Amino acid sequence: MTYRFQFRPYRRRFVRSLTTNHGIWDVREGIILRLTDESGKVGWGEIAPISWFGSETLEQALDFCGQLPEKITDEIILSIPDELPACQFGFESAWEWGSEFFSMPNPQSFSGLLPSGEAALNQWGTLWQRGYRTFKWKIGVYAIANELKIFESLIHALPAFTKLRLDANGGLTYEEAKLWLWTCDNLKANAELAVEIEFIEQPLPVEQFQGILELSKSYETAIALDESVATLKQLAACYQQGWRGIFVIKPGIVGSPSRLRKFCHQYKIDTVFSSVFETAIARLAALQLAAELSRNNRAIGFGIDHFFEQEDTWLQSLWNDL
Ligand code: MG
Repeated sequence: MTYRFQFRPYRRRFVRSLTTNHGIWDVREGIILRLTDESGKVGWGEIAPISWFGSETLEQALDFCGQLPEKITDEIILSIPDELPACQFGFESAWEWGSEFFSMPNPQSFSGLLPSGEAALNQWGTLWQRGYRTFKWKIGVYAIANELKIFESLIHALPAFTKLRLDANGGLTYEEAKLWLWTCDNLKANAELAVEIEFIEQPLPVEQFQGILELSKSYETAIALDESVATLKQLAACYQQGWRGIFVIKPGIVGSPSRLRKFCHQYKIDTVFSSVFETAIARLAALQLAAELSRNNRAIGFGIDHFFEQEDTWLQSLWNDL
């Protein structure tokens, strides 16, 4: 089969910038692509790289798209190199577009992203009203003493049966990670607390895998790897080195969906699927993978709508000139 290939770069400003241990992020840039097969059937795809997280850069993705001919084949799509994981995802999902029935999960199966620091205390209520019951809060952004204080307020403010995920984005020292895990273990032992700390995400930097592995064996509180498993290659390496905790999978940058499926089926890993602040196009493909591959009933990390303006109109305008 051959497909007519077209692409458009895009830029989207966040309504509220995103602050993590990696810094401040204001503008999401990516590429929307369109494949039209010989019968006229259209498939949409999106390349939404995050180079500081381990994917290719936007420039590399644009270069790749730019050097492709206008007509491409299945072979081209399935042989995109591993160095371009966001491209693998974008092309393969456009290629699979609409192949399966898919229904949107309800808000309760999403995790809502809270702003870092004290702002979380004013934000969770709005998300709760929208139906979110699992929240993620970024830590390792401000001084640990401050964050522990806000954390204390937050867990007492949150309603019973709420789940809370703490995401350090690799920003803690070993000692700080121990303090967070110890604090969470203690909370768990306190029967009065009705909030569940689901896990701490990526407490230490990627280079300190052995440290994270050690921590995961020393505390009750679960740990999830995120930055450490940005791409399929890293995911397989961490599994091989003995990681049996939670894997956060960002379909947008992890690489080939078909190879991801194979890995998840073979090793039955405990996964949490998560957003890369993509548009509705990549999100649909990512949610489909999440619905297919999630185990253990974990909420999926796509509760980020409140970071963008309504997207229907600008997605259309992006293609109006075609
Ligand atoms: Mg994370």
